[in-house]
Amino acid sequence: MVKVLTIGEVLVEIVATTRGNGFLEAQPLVGPFPSGAPAIFIDQVGKMGTACAIVSRVGDDDFGQVNIRRLAADGVDVSGIEIAPGESTGSAFVRYREDGSRAFVYNIRHSACGKLRPTPASGALIDSCTHLHVMGSAFSAPELGAMVMDAAQRIKARGGTISFDPNLRPELLNAPGMREALDVVLAMTDLFMPSGEELFLFDPARDEAAVIASLLGRGIRTVVVKRGALGASLFQQGLRLDAAPLPVDEVDPTGAGDTFGGAFLSLWLAGAEPSQALDLANAAGARAVTRLGPMEGTSTRAELDALLAERKG
Ligand code: ATP
Ligand code: MG
Repeated sequence: MVKVLTIGEVLVEIVATTRGNGFLEAQPLVGPFPSGAPAIFIDQVGKMGTACAIVSRVGDDDFGQVNIRRLAADGVDVSGIEIAPGESTGSAFVRYREDGSRAFVYNIRHSACGKLRPTPASGALIDSCTHLHVMGSAFSAPELGAMVMDAAQRIKARGGTISFDPNLRPELLNAPGMREALDVVLAMTDLFMPSGEELFLFDPARDEAAVIASLLGRGIRTVVVKRGALGASLFQQGLRLDAAPLPVDEVDPTGAGDTFGGAFLSLWLAGAEPSQALDLANAAGARAVTRLGPMEGTSTRAELDALLAERKG
């Protein structure tokens, strides 16, 4: 049976309910919401009913439990989440500005997740899972990057598959060893899911068709380009499909890419038709932005079918 693994940070997000410039005055907040790009991604995979697990590390506090309980309830194997006694789970306070950009206060640098290292439980999951989802942001921390690379090599060597979402802010790109690591992962990638500008990370010629042809020529089976409020596109050898965005009221864009990716991967692994996988993932991303809180907008298959039926009918 296919089992999907991802490795990386788990945190909580606490969100201001009014728009404004930051946190200099007292204001209403909601949360804690479970968060962390790998956590949002794997929660969506779990909700699709696909066997999956996450390797991470949290403190022995309520913020850790908020994540563990949600992920477990949504079908994710949490045996690889280490609970570190006396340490704290990371948190981020987020407030949307009037222009839609975000102001953050982070408490992550010294969080339990920063000390994520291989454990017997993580080793057992790497040995039992058949697919790894890699997030490029992992390579901005050397120890986490080494763990992800080791997992990718082991799973690929056993005949497993790799999906890859660069998930990079531009300033991370110049972290030491980042470009080299991304190149190694890309060479192992079966499903590549960049968003916007990330498509051009490996090829500065800014011609989308040429970049896609070169990626497919390197052995990547499927490339899916996420285009935010403009929808998404899918490319395979000899095939291009475009999905128009579903019209929704955007409340909170955080997590759309991870939700899209989790839905797409589940369908891709199950051998769904490319058009069906793209449409359902496009619906998952659209639904994600309608909910406040990064993981609050993950969807079951039934919820995605209902959204598509409603928009078509
Ligand atoms: P993240 O900010 O989570 O890293 P991302 O940049 O990787 O996200 P996006 O392109 O922002 O990913 O969103 C993923 C997908 O979600 C889009 O390709 C689209 O299908 C859907 N989506 C995102 N925003 C909207 C929107 N406002 N309306 C409709 N669909 C949307
Ligand atoms: Mg985005």
